[in-house]
Amino acid sequence: MTQTAQSPTDRSHRAAKRYIYAWGGGRAEGDATMRDLLGGKGAGLAEMTIAGLPTPPGFTITTEACNDFFANGERLPDGLWGDVQEAMREVERQSGKGFGDASNPLLVSVRSGAKFSMPGMMDTVLNLGLNEQTLEGLIALTGNERFGWDAYRRFIQMFGRIVMDVKAERFDDLLEHRKAAIGVAAQDTDLVVDDLKALVTDFKRVVREDTGRDFPTDPNDQLDLAIKAVFASWFGQRARDYRKFNKIPDDLGTAVNVVTMVFGNMGDDSGTGVAFTRDPNTGADVLFGEYLTNAQGEDVVAGIRTPQKISEMERALPDAYAEFQRIGKQLERHYRDVQDLEFTIEKGRLYMLQTRSAKRTAAAAVKIAVDMVADGTISKEEAVARIEPAHVEQLLRATFDPQALRDAKKIVNGLNASPGAAVGRAVFDADDAVDWVGRGEKVILVRIETSPDDFHGMAVAQGIITARGGATSHAAVVARQIGKPCVAGSSDLIVDYGGKQAHCNVTGTEFKQGDWVSLDGSTGALYVGALPTVEARFEDEPDLQTILGWADEIRRMGVWTNADKPEEAAQARSYGAQGIGLCRTEHMFREGERLEIVRGAILIANQATRAKAKAAAGESLSADEQKTIATFDDAMAKLEQLQQGDFEGIFTAMDGLPVVVRLIDPPLHEFLPNLEEQLVKVTRAEDAGGASEEDKELLATIQSMHEQNPMLGLRGCRLGLMIPDFVKIQTRAILNAQIAVKRAGGNPIAKIMIPLVGHVNELAATRALLEGEAKSVQERAGGVHVDYKFGTMIEVPRGALTADEIAREADFFSFGTNDLTQMTFGYSRDDAEGGFLLKYVEEKILPVNPFQTLDDAVAGLMKTAVDKGRTTKPDIELGICGEHGGDPESIHKCERIGLDYVSCSPFRVPVARLAAAQAVLAGGERDK
Ligand code: PEP
Ligand code: MG
Repeated sequence: MTQTAQSPTDRSHRAAKRYIYAWGGGRAEGDATMRDLLGGKGAGLAEMTIAGLPTPPGFTITTEACNDFFANGERLPDGLWGDVQEAMREVERQSGKGFGDASNPLLVSVRSGAKFSMPGMMDTVLNLGLNEQTLEGLIALTGNERFGWDAYRRFIQMFGRIVMDVKAERFDDLLEHRKAAIGVAAQDTDLVVDDLKALVTDFKRVVREDTGRDFPTDPNDQLDLAIKAVFASWFGQRARDYRKFNKIPDDLGTAVNVVTMVFGNMGDDSGTGVAFTRDPNTGADVLFGEYLTNAQGEDVVAGIRTPQKISEMERALPDAYAEFQRIGKQLERHYRDVQDLEFTIEKGRLYMLQTRSAKRTAAAAVKIAVDMVADGTISKEEAVARIEPAHVEQLLRATFDPQALRDAKKIVNGLNASPGAAVGRAVFDADDAVDWVGRGEKVILVRIETSPDDFHGMAVAQGIITARGGATSHAAVVARQIGKPCVAGSSDLIVDYGGKQAHCNVTGTEFKQGDWVSLDGSTGALYVGALPTVEARFEDEPDLQTILGWADEIRRMGVWTNADKPEEAAQARSYGAQGIGLCRTEHMFREGERLEIVRGAILIANQATRAKAKAAAGESLSADEQKTIATFDDAMAKLEQLQQGDFEGIFTAMDGLPVVVRLIDPPLHEFLPNLEEQLVKVTRAEDAGGASEEDKELLATIQSMHEQNPMLGLRGCRLGLMIPDFVKIQTRAILNAQIAVKRAGGNPIAKIMIPLVGHVNELAATRALLEGEAKSVQERAGGVHVDYKFGTMIEVPRGALTADEIAREADFFSFGTNDLTQMTFGYSRDDAEGGFLLKYVEEKILPVNPFQTLDDAVAGLMKTAVDKGRTTKPDIELGICGEHGGDPESIHKCERIGLDYVSCSPFRVPVARLAAAQAVLAGGERDK
């Protein structure tokens, strides 16, 4: 390797950019504000050092160096190696040890650390700097031969796997073999010096066999390779999968932290652990975590040994515990948030290795936020900003029906690592999980323990159960983060990967791949079969309600709901909806007895409409024509009456709040039988002796209404203009319902919405028609005046582009972004999502599914419409009622566009309340 040949003091080899930031001896070159450049870990170590906390000296190589490494064809940028060497000299000075010095060796860890925590997704190497010579020095210095050999075998194992790509099983098998030779229940700590020496020899042999290279002995070579391996792990499969799931951009890069090793495995006065300053499951203000005596960090996280509760450390290592507790509170105050800490105790001396904001469950997130506002640590705005939209969704997640739970057959108990109820079919492998889910199945992933390689399976599973590992094991941390229910450390569960089955030692219950199981992450139990679940109750979430109450004080936009029925409206109202932004009236033509009436009417709609036009022009009508009109009007009158009842229910449920009623929108063929089915029916009947006149007539009507592109055909306002009676009766039904509700003491507020307007004349003509109806109803109401307005949906691009003209005829606009997206992209909303769109998103041809998250170009059209609409009518009310109205990212865009409200399905109302407030807070940030 040529780079190591450079003299460490040769300044000409310095990099052009500053890639390195060091800390140690109470001083640090970086700080907490530099997470972009130093990653979370590096920034945390620097900040802890400045705060006077005990950290082992080290330095961070920046995320920029990582990006330049990839830009440079996976080579370190020029001069960086010289800078690393120089920084190592400083660490040597700080630690009083020498890197590669056989008599007083400095060992380091080389750790990844991105801006956003990606637990276990990238690589870390510990004990770097060991070789046969430095090992002797380490043993001489510590007087502990076993410790030295144990550190050495760990180093070869870790470096071999991570840097040299030797399969983990190659080492694991040798280790298990050696333990088995000691006894059945042997632990790593039972291995004696001779075992460890033999393992070192075996491990080195395996490295040679599998890579064709000897294990590197020069510490500088080790460091160079490890730095590159950590950079390279940024684009490893696990890390990429994780970023994709969590929407973390690929170009952030990871920093590399080179940190002086401190040893938790130097005897019973040493140990290592991870702990949260509050309980990340419940939010309770108690230290929560785990530690292991005489162990190194990876033992806790990897679940190799089952750790002890942190509270037990108080007894075993009282001084270190007290100091740790004090530091925990200090860090919590400093960062004004709950911290996730890593620490090591070396011969009674505590070192802090990491502090970062703690991942938490939804329940913990809201409790902590409310508690921290109460004790004055944070403001209400900060509390609102800290809650993730996904938290709100999690809190409103289902639990198991208590009755079913009482009768359920339990398979096994474990740790309640991440709350929630999950039901699915057991699978034992992450790839199988992905396959099964791809076939439309729901699965529970069952593993002895999980590793980052299982992430893709965890992401698609309903829930996860592991046999080993604690509340801070990989499975637990990741499950909490992605909001999946998880039971960890079910030590009585014996998992047989080969046989794809498992059984419980205690209950004797077994299950195999494909069997239904139910997992309760809140209590930590697994049950036989698919248990029924019950929806979460909003009223049982007081902390969430407090947060949403604060959100309501902050947000500018209203949050309305899309609801078609009184029950939905009531549900949404209980979630805080301030109006109905979209009441689709289609179902009012379909349900029960109505469909028959509607079908009868459709069959003669065109004739009746033509006959009415003749009569209006003063022409005389035939008896048949008069009969057609009478039959048609009779059907319409029945429908009007039924719909009036529907509207009364909705106005009553939303008493005092606005209700946007959208007039009939879908093409009429949607109310008729399918063309092919009817054709088959008639043809079969003809073959068997003759089809009925009725069926033949229906077929002829369906054929006459057939359109090649129905979504671009006779629907929305076009339908209302062609066959005005449908929308006329709706308008009358709305007004009459208002009058009835008002007479009963209510306060019904109607906004009648005309869909699919692309040209102002469409709206003008429809409005003129309906205003007449409304006025005549009002005039006959005996002095009862009701509040109604006419407006339109902006969902056709031409409508958006001519919104200034359209606003002349509209009292309000509501953006129908489902159709607007469909027509802006030219993608069929009914076909694209199941087809090419998935691939488009997967292959990043599109950044997101535009039917889920508002596309910027569509948002641009909306902005044009907003500006134009307000030019004509400064006070025009503007909302959104497409699916995007409940999507947090889209809600941010609506805030920026300046809408007055968003409207979404009832279940998403709480999320929308939060997101609308966060959008205001984010806007404030931007404007600073
Ligand atoms: C829309 O197009 O966005 C909309 C709300 O209407 P629908 O989904 O009923 O077409
Ligand atoms: Mg629409």
